[in-house]
Amino acid sequence: MTGTPRIVVLAGGVGGSRFVLGVRGALRARGVDDTAAALTVVVNTGDDIWLSGVRLQPDVDSITYALAGVNDAERGWGRQGDSERVNHELQEWGAGWPWFTLGDLDLGTHLARTGWLREGLTPTDVLERMSHRWDLGARLLPMTDTEVDTIVVLHDGTRLHFQEWWTRHRATLAPARFENPGIEAASAAPGVAEAIAEADAVLLAPSNPVVSIGPILAVPGVREALCSTPAPIVGVSPIIGGKVVRGMADVCLTAIGVETSAAAVAALYGSRASGGLLDTWLLAEEDDALAVDVAGLGIRPLVRPLWMTDASAPSSLSASAERQTALGEAALAAAGV
Ligand code: GDP
Ligand code: CA
Repeated sequence: MTGTPRIVVLAGGVGGSRFVLGVRGALRARGVDDTAAALTVVVNTGDDIWLSGVRLQPDVDSITYALAGVNDAERGWGRQGDSERVNHELQEWGAGWPWFTLGDLDLGTHLARTGWLREGLTPTDVLERMSHRWDLGARLLPMTDTEVDTIVVLHDGTRLHFQEWWTRHRATLAPARFENPGIEAASAAPGVAEAIAEADAVLLAPSNPVVSIGPILAVPGVREALCSTPAPIVGVSPIIGGKVVRGMADVCLTAIGVETSAAAVAALYGSRASGGLLDTWLLAEEDDALAVDVAGLGIRPLVRPLWMTDASAPSSLSASAERQTALGEAALAAAGV
């Protein structure tokens, strides 16, 4: 391929940001200078919420902070070296959620965002503005400009915002189903369908298939754009050796009747030949034996190392960066880029 490749990644927060770092690293390693022109990330906004009067966008912020290199990699969320003075004060007032920590620097982000939203900017405009502070090396787009929450419905009919179920209850309350009320009336954010249509490759990050990639695919226009793009679609399994790497995606998969296995997630996305999404699915070496099942679905299986952190040295940033870039390169190569 000549010129700058155009890559679109669909992503959630944790697996999403690690993978996006890897794709950016792979593009840089190939000598692409302007990676922001090459890499568009469509981010899940189903986790977004209003709290203490400010708008939080957990997945958008995880990716922004990671690309800027100011994230707390060890904790997995928020800003490096953050303090919690304002959070303590909010708790003294009995405001917000006592189990949901908002760092001081993080609150600065939320205040800036909320101010701009109040001035009438759309979430797309706000994210564009927020992308200028640091050299992110990627263009970030929210999946939609409409506020659509991910709601967890329990077996007794109780309805919880995803953040409350995830952070307060650590996903221990068995979900009956997940809903995105109003999503059928939403539309993809400006630029999303166009980016997919004009892409040389579309990559599904190893994000939570149910509550990160699921809401993105549920936005009217996104699935249609994916089905009609001439670009190959390559997915990366978030499941390694039958287990989630981090988080509680297994609980989410069980709730929608999908086994926690790399092959079952591939089946959930489906093969393009039969109306689904995937041309190619990257599986971990630990899941080698499932390659034949994936091929049986009409999806090309490729077995690659899928760990993006070093389990033996979890805080080793250089080891993680190497693994991330290797996975980014594997995904680009799988898409023929
Ligand atoms: P969230 O929005 O913060 O929940 O993050 P995502 O939805 O983007 O990512 C959560 C998923 O990332 C989990 O299902 C994990 O299994 C997956 N994940 C995290 N780290 C890795 C990794 O190193 N390799 C792979 N293949 N998946 C990972
Ligand atoms: Ca998330």
